Amino acid sequence: MLIRVSEIPDEGIQIEGAASLPHPFEDPAWTLEELSLAIEKDGSAVFVTGALAARVPLVCGRCLEPFQLRIAPEVDARFVPSPQGRAEERELGADDLGTDVYEHGLLDVGALVVTETTLAVPMKPLCREDCRGLCRLCGGNRNLTPCACEERMPDPRWAPLKGLSDRLSR
Ligand SMILES: [Zn+2]
Ligand SMILES: [Zn+2]
Repeated sequence: MLIRVSEIPDEGIQIEGAASLPHPFEDPAWTLEELSLAIEKDGSAVFVTGALAARVPLVCGRCLEPFQLRIAPEVDARFVPSPQGRAEERELGADDLGTDVYEHGLLDVGALVVTETTLAVPMKPLCREDCRGLCRLCGGNRNLTPCACEERMPDPRWAPLKGLSDRLSR
């Protein structure tokens, strides 16, 4: 969805509902579920505020199982026109943290949604807070099959007693 900045009215534009932005993501497995954005203009600067929710397929960093994560970032972005073709100004713009640029007088709402969602994807996603991960001995998924590896592991502290009980039972 491209919005011509010069056509944003004084009262701003409100975008409501994921249906108003069909298929923003390149990956068809990513789905946009909610969208509520207010787009306002102040001179040539554009402010986008609101929230969105998306569902993305991830792989758990602990048990390596694929799962769906719902991501719901708050949106608070500021855009200024791209200083076209002038390297020094471009660098100045990049130094200005939290500010993005729009090109050719057009604000790309789809690109904004993709950026906000991508930034909100956790570096080490977990399928659930208390994911028990993989057993370091048998490699089994301990969420699914509570293996007994840890119990079977001889505890070195008991080794002398084990020897004693072996002798006694002989
Ligand atoms: Zn997991
Ligand atoms: Zn195991």
